[in-house]
Amino acid sequence: MAVSGLPPYDEANIFARILRGEIPCKKVHEDAWALAFHDINPQAPVHVLVIPKGKYCSFADFSAAASEAEIAGFVRAVGTVAKQLGLEAPGYRLLANMGPESGQEVPHFHVHLFGGRPLGRMLPKPA
Ligand code: AMP
Repeated sequence: MAVSGLPPYDEANIFARILRGEIPCKKVHEDAWALAFHDINPQAPVHVLVIPKGKYCSFADFSAAASEAEIAGFVRAVGTVAKQLGLEAPGYRLLANMGPESGQEVPHFHVHLFGGRPLGRMLPKPA
């Protein structure tokens, strides 16, 4: 689903392979719109990735090209996962990297869900 100026979706990316069941994940939630699983390299006591089932390479792609049903379903799934993980009362952080300067590594749109400890500053201080 290439949006003008963005690269085409890479069917071989690791999250596409997880969605196809070709490689395992530690699943925490799945519904018609989204899959959530534990990050393989957690940066907090809770570090879950939530990905849409559709083929969108980034937030830019998803926000521009996904249907309203896909967007609503995905956002609700993120909220459901956070609630199921018991993070509503203590709080949590959502993060989505988009493009080279963000450090996005996997070209399938995903939201990081962090929690389980005080999370500190939103961004590190510049060196
Ligand atoms: P980003 O830098 O926003 O693209 O984040 C990609 C995230 O995917 C990183 O936090 C990785 O640790 C995580 N990751 C990469 N491969 C896997 C995998 N097979 N299962 C779970 N998480 C993964």
